[in-house]
This record gives sequence, structure tokens and C-alpha cells, in this order.
Amino acid sequence: MFHVKHTFMVENLTHCPLCNHSDFLIFLESKDCFLSQELFIIQECKGCGFRFTNPRPTESSMESYYQSEDYISHDSDKGGLIPALYKLARHCTIRAKYRIVRKYSNSQTILDIGCGTGEFLHYCQQRGMNCQGVETAEKARAIARHTKTLAVDSDFLTKKEQSAHYDCITLWHALEHIHRLDETMNKIKNELQRDGVLIIALPNCNSFDARHYGKYWAAYDLPRHIFHFTKDTVEFLATKHEMTCQKIIPMKLDAFYISLLSEKYKYGSQNWIRALRSGLRSNLKSGKPEFGHSSQIYLLKNKIS
Ligand SMILES: [Zn+2]
Repeated sequence: MFHVKHTFMVENLTHCPLCNHSDFLIFLESKDCFLSQELFIIQECKGCGFRFTNPRPTESSMESYYQSEDYISHDSDKGGLIPALYKLARHCTIRAKYRIVRKYSNSQTILDIGCGTGEFLHYCQQRGMNCQGVETAEKARAIARHTKTLAVDSDFLTKKEQSAHYDCITLWHALEHIHRLDETMNKIKNELQRDGVLIIALPNCNSFDARHYGKYWAAYDLPRHIFHFTKDTVEFLATKHEMTCQKIIPMKLDAFYISLLSEKYKYGSQNWIRALRSGLRSNLKSGKPEFGHSSQIYLLKNKIS
């Protein structure tokens, strides 16, 4: 293993966050292409196959890795091609997300964890739903609260407990950022109605584009992503928390967006043709059970006992 120098505090996991096994192998070594340029390692559990960033920044030092004017996931006003593409995709996906919530839940009361600047929740609120958000980034939270008049807490685990309150809890590309996985899942289960739906969108590191770009795959997003899920490990997580994964819905646009960003990380420039081809191949190869789509939405429900 090479020597890794980090600017901020890191912690080393000795047990798998999913199955508690203590034997890991190195899955991949890569750097934070987006911000710090620091090197990180993704390890894979020999027990359950779960992949996670290890060592990883401590929870309190994580904020330092989001300190950038370019972190477009939370930024509403940036110009340029990739942010423009991101915003276009976001506009299309908000409507798609809303349709999924409507179709698969009672959709009266919704909690969105990692709500960013609140576009999705605002869309739900305008359609009569009772909305609550959680967002750790102060700037994004302020935008959600003040420009969209949304109720947004700063932290899910310290948020006031509301047992069996929500018809639907959503995490759109958020769970892979959250340190305390089991505590978060336990609280989600407690706050979800008995027949409620948990909707989790995640990058899939078994997808064709992940395999194609390897350590340059933009959806590893090290070290901001501390967990790197696949269909199997999401199903393992569901079972562990006495839930079942009832449906998987593809996010086909993500294959193109992630390919374009990965092109930049790999070659230093965005090659649209190559990115388009990779995105297309990713979607075409997604039917292979060992692949799946670049990003996927998992619908989890409580097990009927
Ligand atoms: Zn494991």
C-alpha cells in the first residue's frame, strides 16, 4: 500500500460497516480528482463484498472536502457546460422522481435527506405534499429555507424523532455520503410509516461505465462518497434492517453525465463523442445481471411479519 498523506483527520475502519467482517482487500486506489487531489483507497469486504473508502475523513473533517465554489451538486448559479447539463438533467429528473414517489407511496408526508437547495421538495410542496428536508451544507440549506420556504433540519440523526410519521423517505445520492450507516437506517425505519417507502438513489460501481473508467470513474467521488454500493450490497443492507428491496429503477441520464465527467478526469478534457458512446454502452449493457445501470433507484419497504 502506498503512503497516503491527508490534510484533514482520517479514521481507519477495522470492521465492515455492513457485515462486521474484518478481512478486506484493496479494490481500488484513486485520488480526489475534484478538489483536494489527495489519494484514497476503496477497500472491499471479503465477507459480503461491500466497498467503502478506508481510511476515510472523520465526520467532522468531511466538510473541508466540500469547500469549493464548483461543487455543483449544491450550487444553483454556476455557468459553464457541465453545470448547465447538470441543471437540465436535474429538471428532468425532478419530475421523474416525483412520479416515482406518487406511484409507489401514499405520498402525503415526505422527508428528503440530503435535499440540497430543495428543488425536488419544492416541486412536491407545490403539489400539496407535506415536506421536510435535511441538509448538512449551510449554504444550500439557507437557499432551501429562504427562497423555497421549506422546513429543513441540519442533521438527520439529531433531528427530533417522529415515529411512524412519513409515507416516504428519500435519499437521492445521499446515503453514500453518510458516516453512520446503521444509525441512519435505524432512525429511517422508525420514522417511516409501517407501509411507507424508502427510496434510495445510488451510483452503482458494478456498472459498465464504472468498469470502463476504473479509478477515473467520477461517481467514486472520493472522499465525499464513503460507501460504494452495488445491487447486492443494497439488498444486504435492506435485509440487515428487516426491509426488502421491491424494485430497482434505472437512472439512464446519469451514465452520460458521469461518463462526461470521467472523461475530464481521465484525459483532462471532455470528449463528448467518447462520453456519449460510454453512456450508451453503459445503458445497453445494464441488462447483464452483474452490471446494472450507472445509477439506480432502490425502493425498500418494511418486511411484512
Ligand atoms: Zn462485509
